[in-house]
Amino acid sequence: MLFSDIVVESFTHTGILQGITENAYVLHRWDRRDCLIIDPGIGPHCLINYIKRENLNPVAILVTHGHYDHIGGIPDVQEEWPDVKVIIGELDSHKLNDPKCNLSRSFGYPIAVPQADIIVADKQMLNIAGMGAQAIWVPGHSRGHMIYLVPSEDRILAFVGDVIFAGSIGATEFGDGDFNQLVQGIELSILPLPEQTVILPGHGKLTTVLNEKQTNPWLRFSFINRGVEKGEYVGRRRKHRQKSSLQPAGSGE
Ligand SMILES: [Zn+2]
Repeated sequence: MLFSDIVVESFTHTGILQGITENAYVLHRWDRRDCLIIDPGIGPHCLINYIKRENLNPVAILVTHGHYDHIGGIPDVQEEWPDVKVIIGELDSHKLNDPKCNLSRSFGYPIAVPQADIIVADKQMLNIAGMGAQAIWVPGHSRGHMIYLVPSEDRILAFVGDVIFAGSIGATEFGDGDFNQLVQGIELSILPLPEQTVILPGHGKLTTVLNEKQTNPWLRFSFINRGVEKGEYVGRRRKHRQKSSLQPAGSGE
């Protein structure tokens, strides 16, 4: 896929556990050969072959969160390109080498990968391979979950991991998940983005902010989605939370 000046290739890894598929991404400026990898997934052989075939040079792996299905392939990439830097948010960094916290142990296939090279903070700007990437902290699916916003010349590319999917949102039933936190994070960090922003999720098809505003059933009761201004939002949300637990299939207000 070509987004004006940025080339993005996606790889859906079928993985080896429970038939779960995961999307990995490789991106680079069309006029450069250094590239970024987002969440290599498990068994990223197609991704590695693509990088070699295209004569690209990966300089960093941006990890959205530390769940096994997103991180399992990090050592495969490091074996080919030992200098590649692994980047993750602070509150998920311990999951890289903790099979319990990265959920792999409960699937009977414990995974531990080396510690990250760089810890990113909320709203931190990264400049890698000639591209700017802003890390934004969006907890709720995983406590240290980061999304990465990469502006191309004509639109923002949002690599959102397991925060939001086409027609759905991330699961919140894992140890440090929190439904309200996740919905609030989507409302504050994703819905205000320009509507033509491309959402590239960790599972399933790519989508846009406009499409999710119009069709995502989990955001039906979102205040921001209904045009409520940010200042007013906090008060209204507090009131709403007192009334209900904000279940998407609920009766609304
Ligand atoms: Zn996950």
